[in-house]
Amino acid sequence: MTYWCEHAWLGSGTAAGVRVDVRNGRIASVATGVPPAHGDERLAGVVLPGLADSHAHAFHRALRGRTHDRGGTFWSWRRQMYAVAARLDPESYLSLARATYAELALSGVTCVAEFHYLHHGPDGRPYADHNAMGHALEQAAADAGIRLTLLDTCYLAGGLAADGYLPLDPVQQRFSDGHAAAWAKRVDGLADTESVRHGAAIHSVRAVPADQLKDVAAAAAGRPLHVHLSEQPAENAACLAHHGCTPTALLAAHGVLGPSTTAVHATHVDADDIAVLGKSGTAICACPSTEADLADGIGPFRRLAEAGSPLCVGSDQQVHSDLLAEARAVESYERLSTGERGRFSPAELVAALTRHDLLGWADAGTIAEGQRADLVAVRLDSARTAGCLPDQIVTAAGAADVHTVVVDGRVVVREGRHVLGDVGALLAAAIEPLWDQS
Ligand SMILES: [Zn+2]
Repeated sequence: MTYWCEHAWLGSGTAAGVRVDVRNGRIASVATGVPPAHGDERLAGVVLPGLADSHAHAFHRALRGRTHDRGGTFWSWRRQMYAVAARLDPESYLSLARATYAELALSGVTCVAEFHYLHHGPDGRPYADHNAMGHALEQAAADAGIRLTLLDTCYLAGGLAADGYLPLDPVQQRFSDGHAAAWAKRVDGLADTESVRHGAAIHSVRAVPADQLKDVAAAAAGRPLHVHLSEQPAENAACLAHHGCTPTALLAAHGVLGPSTTAVHATHVDADDIAVLGKSGTAICACPSTEADLADGIGPFRRLAEAGSPLCVGSDQQVHSDLLAEARAVESYERLSTGERGRFSPAELVAALTRHDLLGWADAGTIAEGQRADLVAVRLDSARTAGCLPDQIVTAAGAADVHTVVVDGRVVVREGRHVLGDVGALLAAAIEPLWDQS
């Protein structure tokens, strides 16, 4: 199959008239400044590399439009999230994740990193297949036609207070393997495939006792290792009160930080934390729609980038499954918090959107010979994007402007329609039964 792109993102900007030859799911050649040839599939607008969603919780999609009427805090939202978590089983998890990943594919996501901690049955007892829930996510991604980096998450404690770690509450029982060694043994049963990579995650310094952090880092063994970091001030206060240091310093002291590690949020980090994160090469995942929805705050993402931390973005709790909007919000919030424009250039935002390498896929994320054939065609003629320069499309386009998505050479979305059909209907069928039980 050969695609002719009206414009395509190559390196740090766009070129016009780009022919991309695809063989066996890989890009065989790229030619620029050429007219379309007979038989080429034409992709109008701007063709971006596949987008990498670096932080997602598929099941949070069930909460969209249902948690906003009574105000509250991150912690009251979490109670509602736990109510949904308590109702899921491998079958309903598969239905919900499949529909959620299909929605992400519609927005141009070709690989999702799932931060997965719903491991066991509702009473905390393992399913007969100890990885039944993880396998449901693998199936969901395969059905939705996107790649998956499954970040199996270690979650052992119910929280952190000044006098120590709290016991798990009843809902949290299903998140826990009891000990990092048992978690590592279970995760050892997961195998990579052509479209699935396995990494690891530490839920947070609240959920993994300090003396077991190094065990999780060791088990990750150079694979992607993610951690929620300083999303809320209460986490910092508890860590300071009990350990006498910030969450960043605690992770650094236990060998968690480094170039294979991605810290998610990093909203409330101080100058010392920023220096430590940057010097270690730890990546930062911004999730601005979630950070706004949960009133977390605005992270210092430009300062982190300047300190040496690569930036990526995530859809996180699926407030909206629109990664282009996430990247735009990173820049918008930087402007609001600093009073300066152009904190991240459009090219830097595209780079943040395409960090497949941080998710274990070094052969994806650019339109270049030998790379996986991921192509995301964005309209330049919609009511939102008409008149935009191709190089600045990321500052205006959103999920609704994505018309065609190719993943590993396979067309998953064509003219705004997913191969699974009506994704809205799939979402409704997955979400409504979860609430009918309440
Ligand atoms: Zn998260």
